[in-house]
Amino acid sequence: MLQFKLVLLGDSSVGKSSIVNRFVKDSFDEFRESTIGAAFLSQTVTIKDSDANGNEAQEVTVKFEIWDTAGQERYKSLAPMYYRNANAALVVYDITQADSLEKARSWVQELKNKVDDDSLVIYLVGNKIDLATDDDKDKREVEENVAKTYAEENGLLFSEVSAKNGQGIQQVFRSIAEKLYDI
Ligand code: GDP
Ligand code: MG
Repeated sequence: MLQFKLVLLGDSSVGKSSIVNRFVKDSFDEFRESTIGAAFLSQTVTIKDSDANGNEAQEVTVKFEIWDTAGQERYKSLAPMYYRNANAALVVYDITQADSLEKARSWVQELKNKVDDDSLVIYLVGNKIDLATDDDKDKREVEENVAKTYAEENGLLFSEVSAKNGQGIQQVFRSIAEKLYDI
C-alpha cells in the first residue's frame, strides 16, 4: 500500500479539523474544540489505476497520514515540522471570510519558499459552501472564480467543499491520491 503524508494549513476556524473529521469519520460537529498544536489521523482512499491504453486495470489503495495543524498564530512556528516532509498540503480558507483567503495565499507562498521538493502537491480548498445561497442569506465573501484563477496561476489544485454536508470532500483526497500516484 502506498502511503502519503498530508498536512492541513490555514487560518483558525476555516474548518480544517472538520474537513479531516468528515474524510476520516464521515461526521461533523457543530461545536468542535479548536486544535491544540496538531492532531494526527489516517485514512485510506481507493483509486483506479489505468494501463497505457487508458483502460482501467486495478484498484490501488492509498493511505494518507494526516497532520491537522492549529491555525493560531502562536503555533505558527510548529508548522514547518509538519509540512517539511509532506507529500501534499491542503491549504484551507473559508468562503465566507475574505481574510482567510489572504492567509491561505501566505501559506502557499511559505510552502513555495521553504519546501524544496517540487513534487509537493498543494491543494487550495474553499470550505463552507453550504453557507453560499441564492437568497439574501448568502454569506459568500470570496467568489469561486477569484480563488480558481489564483490557483491556476500558481499551479495549485482547487475546489470548493462543505465539511458540514460532505460536498466535495472525498473528491479532494481522491484527486490528491491520483496526482501523487502519477508522479
Ligand atoms: P479549524 O480551526 O480550521 O480546524 O476549524 P474547525 O474545523 O474547528 O471549524 C471551525 C468552525 O466552523 C466550527 O464551528 C465548525 O462547526 C464550523 N465549520 C467547519 N466546516 C464547516 C462547513 O463546511 N460549513 C459550516 N457551515 N460550518 C463549518
Ligand atoms: Mg482545528
